[in-house]
Amino acid sequence: MKYFRLSQDAVKVLADTYSTPLLVLSLEQIELNYNLLAENMPDVKIYYAVKANPDERIIRKLSALGGRFDVASDGEMRMLNELGIDSARMVYANPVKTASGLQVAHTIGVNKFTFDSESEIAKMAAAVPGGTVLLRIRVDNPRALVDLNKKFGAHPEEALDLLIKAQAAGLDVAGLCFHVGSQSASNEAYIDALKICRSLFDAAAEKGLHLRMLDIGGGFPIPTLTEEPDVAAMVTGIYATIKQYFPDTEIWAEPGRYICGTAVNLITQVIGTKVRNNQQWYFLDDGLYGTFSGVIFDHWDFELETFKTGKTIPATFAGPSCDSLDIMFRDKQTAPLEIGDLILVPNCGAYTSASATVFNGFAKTTIIVWEEVYEEIKAKLALATAG
Ligand SMILES: *Cc1c(COP(=O)(O)O)cnc(C)c1O
Repeated sequence: MKYFRLSQDAVKVLADTYSTPLLVLSLEQIELNYNLLAENMPDVKIYYAVKANPDERIIRKLSALGGRFDVASDGEMRMLNELGIDSARMVYANPVKTASGLQVAHTIGVNKFTFDSESEIAKMAAAVPGGTVLLRIRVDNPRALVDLNKKFGAHPEEALDLLIKAQAAGLDVAGLCFHVGSQSASNEAYIDALKICRSLFDAAAEKGLHLRMLDIGGGFPIPTLTEEPDVAAMVTGIYATIKQYFPDTEIWAEPGRYICGTAVNLITQVIGTKVRNNQQWYFLDDGLYGTFSGVIFDHWDFELETFKTGKTIPATFAGPSCDSLDIMFRDKQTAPLEIGDLILVPNCGAYTSASATVFNGFAKTTIIVWEEVYEEIKAKLALATAG
């Protein structure tokens, strides 16, 4: 599959027109990504994990496509509510909820929740009595880039006890959920998790508790510097296992990265160069406190397309702020660069702008929509070619 990637000419015209740093979002790519999951997992309800990229235009697009939303805080629920999204299309999928989050859920009518501990049962029973709840199960997956199971998920051995306690507290105990970890390199972890969940569904049924929903979480991968995963094949395998083990269960998924990761390109430029201790340094106009925050929070290694040829050298890339933490890459191989050189960073829509700050007075990088500027950019490109 080919993902959204600006041409060198488009990068130049966009930088001239809008200046840098600039994030360019393709809503068509969002649609392609959503459709790939929806078509390969028909009848699975897709809840977009808003935390990956909460841009309003992404939310509206997914809402128009019939998507649903995984929210984790009062702020995310309020934002979606203000965009007119029905609370029935949201799941509050944070196993440890705040008082204000529960209050907003109650006020706007979000009624689906996840939990993984006994202390959360009493909180939900008090704030959202009768709420529909899924128990999050821990699944270990060393092959994920970001292992969320270090923080969340009840051990399968505790599951039955927690489900029964939640039911006794008056909650509508509907099923189980899991998250195999973000950027999972294979579907084995999903298949293992599905098997564990099947045996828990059966064990619950023996106690008279009939579970009816299963949420398989997110984790679907996007291309990295070294790998281009075949997500269609991956989800086809997961779906076949779902049909085998859970033919009559309502299934949800919560993709974040896969929906938005490939839909955004960053255009940044070299604003400074120097040699320190025999190492070449390049300073960019976007940095670790901005779009490259994913280097820290998401353990992500970004591709830098410099459009330059020539013998590569190892260089250090730093951001524009005055903090020495603001270094994105060390010993990154690159063709030699100069001030003013433009750099394209593809696949940077997930866990990038979402975790950017305005530290040191650098504004968050502007995000424009490619399909909205495409005609104008194309006309400028035609002019440039004619001239
Ligand atoms: C972050 C998160 C997701 C999205 O994960 P991706 O790896 O981006 O697909 C889904 N569900 C929950 C509960 C999450 O915390």
